[in-house]
Order: sequence, then structure tokens, then C-alpha cells
Amino acid sequence: MILTWRHIGGALLTAAVLLAAFVSPPAAHGAATPGNSPFLSEIHAWTNEIYTRVAIYTGDEVSWQAAALRADPPQGLPPRIFIDVRGVGIKSDILHNPVGVHNGLLRQVRAGRYSSDTVRVVIDLERSSTFRVFALPDPYRIIIDIDGEGVIPVPQDNAAQEPQGSVGSTPPLPAPESPPASFPHPEAAFRNPAPPQLASLRRPRVRVMIDPGHGGKDPGAVGPSGLREKDVVLAIGRLVRDRLARDEGFDVWMTRDSDVYIPLEERTAMANRSHADVFVSLHINASRNRKARGVSTFVFSRGASNMEDLELAARENGVPVARLKGIKFIVDDLFNGARKNESLRLAKTMNDAICRNVSARFGGQENLGLKQAPFFVLVGARMTSVLVESSFISNPRDEALLRDTAYLERIADGIVEALRYYGQNGNVGRPEL
Ligand SMILES: [Zn+2]
Repeated sequence: MILTWRHIGGALLTAAVLLAAFVSPPAAHGAATPGNSPFLSEIHAWTNEIYTRVAIYTGDEVSWQAAALRADPPQGLPPRIFIDVRGVGIKSDILHNPVGVHNGLLRQVRAGRYSSDTVRVVIDLERSSTFRVFALPDPYRIIIDIDGEGVIPVPQDNAAQEPQGSVGSTPPLPAPESPPASFPHPEAAFRNPAPPQLASLRRPRVRVMIDPGHGGKDPGAVGPSGLREKDVVLAIGRLVRDRLARDEGFDVWMTRDSDVYIPLEERTAMANRSHADVFVSLHINASRNRKARGVSTFVFSRGASNMEDLELAARENGVPVARLKGIKFIVDDLFNGARKNESLRLAKTMNDAICRNVSARFGGQENLGLKQAPFFVLVGARMTSVLVESSFISNPRDEALLRDTAYLERIADGIVEALRYYGQNGNVGRPEL
């Protein structure tokens, strides 16, 4: 894996510091055979006026490099970010159909053959912005997060030059008529009914994105009698949503409100795009040890304190443990500091509240406590964010409890209680980016 920053000088060094990448070991492609060689098959963008996430799918692991380019007014070119991807094919309709955005931050995303073995993806910006790039495996995709806040101008005298004949030297194409992003607008589908307009003016409403894990083709963990994690967490998510919807202190959305598959990076993008203050990813644990039980709540970290938690993160990430261990997480400045502390506090409060609520009705549930592990779905989240593993679906007794709506209601009560406490005591507000 190559990640280089060419010709970055002056003020853009700050942007390099903001770069938070986690990259896999060097790509080890042998003689790729047609049919399984890397192929640039999809480009997605989720965006608002201050934030954009672009995902480039190549299927198999590839080497790539990213850099920024200053605006070139004589050529009619705006500031750009480009990603050169080596040794890939490209789908012809991506070549011919740039993803148009035009929202004040991003103009469009386009791609083309830069050289015989390199495809260049160019992100045309409306203005210079900070960005960071990282990759997720299985399927391999390169993710670019662009921040419209904390804008750092590209230096005029030391920026990378775009070579002649490159994709980037093509004048910007007109925007397509269809919207580019598959992200459903929060107002559209999953939002709670509008609460009465009597909300207190004293305290800002807390914006919560509930993320029921898995869905569609991904069942998540499956219990001994066949109960599926994806169904349980959707039920819990709806209970949490309905409770918060009755509370004038909250706006609440769900990443999914049906049995659909949503990639992990899209879930985070939905939370970021919605300006959520809190992101809660809902999961149910599983273990080879059928007697294992308990509730734990996680915050993102680059590593895990034990193999059990690493295995859990690998399973939730949909990658083998060996692959997860090979990923080098470079410091994510956007999540360190205050926001991580807020997440740790919320995770502790939430785990205790779930255990208390569940135990009061169903006997002692084990409190496995606050934990940290590298969950992909939390990477790049710009807000207080936690991942809850409420019970073990692999434990026959807990699986039976998870079939009981009353049990799920107690879990939801605990989550809501913690969110209410956070709303009253947490540092809610726009992140200081
Ligand atoms: Zn899960």
C-alpha cells in the first residue's frame, strides 16, 4: 500500500496531520487473472454542505496514492483531490458519468484512465478543504472524508501539477440530472414524526442516529435456535426510536428501518451527513462458549485489549481476524480528545443503564462494562459514537430472552435513559472541527 503526499507544503502540512488513514500491508497481487483482478466498479458520495464521504470500490486490494491540487483558473479547474489507483480496470459507465454534487463543498467526482496501469479518480471541490483517506477491506474500498470546515487553502506555489493528458485536465463536465448519492435524506424515510413545536429554547435538541447493525444479506450472528441478530437489533432500534420520538429533546433517525443491507461506511456517512450529535450502533454478541453472556458497550480504538474483543470486532467488520490485525490505524485526530471522552462517558452510562433495566425485570445480567475495539462502523464518525453489544445470541437462555419483546424493551429503556442523561449532561453541540 502506498500513501504519499506529493508536493504538500506550507499550510497544507496541517491537512497532512489531519490525515487519518488506516492502511493494509502492501498489496500482494500475483498475476491477476481476468475475472478476479481489481476493478473500479462503484463510486458513491454522501454529502452535505460541510461534509462529504466518497467511497471507491475496487473489489480486490490495490495500491493507491492521494494528493491535493490547487485551483487552476486559466484551465477553469477548481481545487481538486485526486486518487491514483494502480492495476485496476474501470467500468465504462463510471468513465462516462461523473457523479455530480454541486452543494457548496463538492462539485463532482469523475474518473478516467491516467496511464495504462493507473486509473485516476478526481474530486472537484467548490473550495479548498481538508481531507483524509483510508481503506476498508472485503470488499476493498478507498474512503475519502472531506471536511468543509477548518478550511486550509492550498498554497499557490507548491501544489502538485496535474500532468498533461490526465483525467484531471479535462474541463469539468456538466452535472448529471439524477442525484448522485444513494443516501436517503433524513426527512424522507426513517425520521420520527415531527414532535410538537413546544420544545424548550434553552437546550438544543439532541440529534441521534440509531444504527441497527447488519440487515439484508448479512444476518449478523445467529442463535442456536435460529434467531438472527439483524432482526433483534432492528426491533431494539425501533423501540429506541419510538421512545425518543416522544421526547421533545431529541431528533432521531435510523440508518435502516427495514431488512436491508447497508455498507458500514455508509452508516457512518449517514450520521455525519445528518449532523447527528450521537451515533449508536446496535448489535448482539456471540461466542463459541455457549455459556458466555453479558452486555458490553464499545468505543472505537485502534486495538483491542484481548483476543475475544478483537474477534468480535472482526466479525462485526466482516473480515478475518488476521486481516483486522494487519490494519495499521493511524491516529484519527478527528476522534481524539473531547469527542472520544464523551463517547467513553456515554458508553459507560449506557452499559450500566441497560444492565440495570434488564436485571430489574429478568434477573442479573452480567455487566461486561465499557470496552474499546476497532469497529469499522465507528471510523470517521464526527460525533459521540458507541457500539452496544446487548446480550449473547449464542447463549440459549439469552437467545430466548431476545425473543421476548419485554426484554428488548428493557434494553431500549436503558439506551434511552443513557441518551437522556447525555442530553442533559453531555457536551452536545457541533464538533469543534
Ligand atoms: Zn453485529
